[in-house]
Amino acid sequence: MIGLEIHCQLTNLASKLFCTCKANYREFEPNTNICPVCMGLPGTLPRLNKKAVEKATMIALALNCSTPARLGFFRKNYFYPDLPKNFQITQLNMYGPTSIGEKGKIDIEGKEIRIRRIQLEEDPGRLIYEGASERTAITLVDYNRAGTPLVEIVTEPDFENPRQVRIFLNILSDLLANLGVSDPTLEGAMRADANVSIEGGSRVEVKNIGSFYDLEKAIHFELTRQESLKERNIPIIQETRHWDDRRKITISSRTKEEDEDYRYVLEGDIPWVVMDKNLIESWKRKMPESISSKKHRYITKYAIPPQVADVLASDKYYSDLFEDAHDESNAKEVANLITTDLMGLVDTREKKERSKITAKHLSDLVNLIRGGKITRTSAKSALQEMVKTGRPASDIVSDVGLGKISDESELKKIIEQVILEEPIAAQQAVENPQTINYLVGKVMQKTKGKADPATTLKLLKEKIGTI
Ligand SMILES: [Zn+2]
Repeated sequence: MIGLEIHCQLTNLASKLFCTCKANYREFEPNTNICPVCMGLPGTLPRLNKKAVEKATMIALALNCSTPARLGFFRKNYFYPDLPKNFQITQLNMYGPTSIGEKGKIDIEGKEIRIRRIQLEEDPGRLIYEGASERTAITLVDYNRAGTPLVEIVTEPDFENPRQVRIFLNILSDLLANLGVSDPTLEGAMRADANVSIEGGSRVEVKNIGSFYDLEKAIHFELTRQESLKERNIPIIQETRHWDDRRKITISSRTKEEDEDYRYVLEGDIPWVVMDKNLIESWKRKMPESISSKKHRYITKYAIPPQVADVLASDKYYSDLFEDAHDESNAKEVANLITTDLMGLVDTREKKERSKITAKHLSDLVNLIRGGKITRTSAKSALQEMVKTGRPASDIVSDVGLGKISDESELKKIIEQVILEEPIAAQQAVENPQTINYLVGKVMQKTKGKADPATTLKLLKEKIGTI
């Protein structure tokens, strides 16, 4: 049995969870994005960020959770250098359901993964170890992140294998990006711990996992380790283990905290927050269309193939481009251009940020293809140019000379040349018309993909007929 605890930063908010410091701590010099409130100085009071409650509630609704009648906040006490107040403000369902959401579910390939609880809490600061290991003398503290809004999603132990975990995290990450609440590709924006147990053994929690890739590896390791203990009749004890990503193993950590060790108390500085039904309804109406609804629309309205609709709808960057670029008549071609050509060109977060391509580029390019002004092969070169320079489609086509060659006399000359260079292939085409495509390919090569395929085929057939 595998369960997950996933921490997602609400990266798109303007300010921290309880003060007006910036939520985007990444752009600051260490310890410059702080104030008396997030440093927990005496006499300060936290003020709850309403937008954070709105965005976190949207996550709860998207994960089919029920939302509480009132929100409550608790102090989780522990002493650690990354926590300036010595407690973290978080949520707990101690007096009934008072956390952002509970009892949700999400479907992955026909399997239901239940969401136990979602809570809104503050992120601690960051510890930076000077040198390679934790045993080095110097640890630096950067409080810029302290107090930034974090949503913790706790699942039931419903996963049967590491593969399901990976699929779930990919779906969750797409869902958060689609909601516009978080950018999961930012470093540290999504972090997960795993609870792993096998039949007859106790629950082992694996913490400190940096990437989804490592998470899958850590779960694999833990399952193998526990199976091996079981075979040798050694009891599997309940413990917390840390993932060592250098050695790719889990290591028992001596600290084992239980809920009671945290001495949770109600955060008296934040009153109960009544969750007005009308307010939640208005947030619900503001939520963007879900990925599954988009996918369904692409398939039924535009007859886009299901696999294409799936990749297109799942990625916010591409589906936003698609939404703005397509109309009733060209949707299929725009989708095709994005999924077969553009996705290969702009495939990382950095490339997406740098890319100068707009929806207008795409719709113009599709129009040029449909109008017979440019071939599909040249369209790919034009896309490359657009991503790099952002120049308009028509300029690129005329300047770079990507315009389609459909002038028959020009094509005839190239065909004559190809037949001279490929006498054997030409002879074969006379005997077996099926092999003529080889010659079409040669013409394409010579024209760098600019020859109009239909005209080329027609002229080639005529030419071969005379041999
Ligand atoms: Zn602050």
